[in-house]
Amino acid sequence: MSATSPERVASRQRDATVADTRRRVPRTDALLADPAIAARIAELGRDLVKATVTRVQQRCRDGAIAPEAVPAAVLDALPPRAATGRPVVNATGVLLHTNLGRAPLSPAARAAVAASCGTSDVELDLDTGRRGVRGAGALAALRAAVPAAEAALVVNNNAAAVVLAATALAAGREIVLSRGELVQIGDGFRLPDLIASTGARLREVGTTNCTTAADYRAAVGADTGLIVKLHRSNFTIAGFTAEAGIDELTGLGVPVLADLGSGLLAPLPLLPDEPDAATALRDGADLVCFSADKLLGGPQAGVLLGRAATLERLRRHPLYRALRPDKLTLAALEATLRGPAPPVTAALAATPADRLRRATAIAELLRGNGIDAVAEPSEGVVGGGSAPGVRLPSAAVRLPTRYGEPLRARDPAVLGRLADDGCLLDVLAVDPADDRLLADAVLAVARCR
Ligand SMILES: *Cc1c(COP(=O)(O)O)cnc(C)c1O
Repeated sequence: MSATSPERVASRQRDATVADTRRRVPRTDALLADPAIAARIAELGRDLVKATVTRVQQRCRDGAIAPEAVPAAVLDALPPRAATGRPVVNATGVLLHTNLGRAPLSPAARAAVAASCGTSDVELDLDTGRRGVRGAGALAALRAAVPAAEAALVVNNNAAAVVLAATALAAGREIVLSRGELVQIGDGFRLPDLIASTGARLREVGTTNCTTAADYRAAVGADTGLIVKLHRSNFTIAGFTAEAGIDELTGLGVPVLADLGSGLLAPLPLLPDEPDAATALRDGADLVCFSADKLLGGPQAGVLLGRAATLERLRRHPLYRALRPDKLTLAALEATLRGPAPPVTAALAATPADRLRRATAIAELLRGNGIDAVAEPSEGVVGGGSAPGVRLPSAAVRLPTRYGEPLRARDPAVLGRLADDGCLLDVLAVDPADDRLLADAVLAVARCR
């Protein structure tokens, strides 16, 4: 075979192409400085991103991908963005949506979380340099907010508060509970099962619709550890009903725990049927407990308020150690209590006219861009195990149904409500500061079509 055979020529050309590709493989420092790749370094760390860059460069040298395609291939090869905690704009009309993390934190609470992310004084008294009370600031803020409480204790959520109280006060003994208050909460969990799981025996009294003070009196005996009064937070009983008040259950020689559920600290005229901590304590409850991420508008936590001696028994019980909240929760809770009204409170304080004005402004902006959008009155709910049966007059932007899915796929995701031949974006739970973001998301979806 001569030196200039066609095979030789072809082979030399191939070598030259490979050598050329090698020269054109983007350099490591240039790739790491690419803005989109650099953003992922902040999230994933330099080592992992650099290793991915090296791998993709090799595939380029091997001729598997073109040099121009390397930056995109690096981004493709990196792990997807964290899927826990992706932001969602709540346009469902459900103010406290358990699947969306219930209450959004106030700006003050967000700042407090950021400030306490590092090492903090969560359980240290900086004045003396000694171990302090865990979350002392949050406990003081709770006592200041509810002067009727002698003391406060915080655990991970309200279910934990109920379990701790049942365990510390009544394990191996009886807990008296009305048959009208055997409540199932979300995801199939039942509060009676939760209470029974502590080793306490449930002593059901009364009937589904009627339980009187005499029913409790007849059931309480030497073996009773606790009376639980549980708020029907996610359903109502109407018609022929009777229920004993907390003030009728005191004086039986047994502590009374009122599980208030949604956590109003004081009465709220807009929600007259929601129980509140100050009233329940004034009526004589030894302890009240509630979630901090429902109507209180704070982080996920369970708050216990009441008698100092009873709460000290709970705090000294070994189970408390397994249920105590982290420093971020305690910081967010204190800031929620001390700071300006959180978003949930602000949303409840807004008027239906405010909401219709916002929906109208969004719909007009969208129509101005050729989108089939109309504002209309709607009905929202409090949700999240609060204020059952209460309808909140609200307003929504109605879009064609086909918008629902692409809005949910956006970042941040926008979650509306599918109803009667349309996709409703209800402004009830949307922070007014996010109205523009909501409109922009719809505009972006319209442009993609
Ligand atoms: C919501 C609720 C609970 C559960 O509270 P979590 O904070 O979700 O654990 C328990 N009891 C009542 C009455 C509730 O409304």
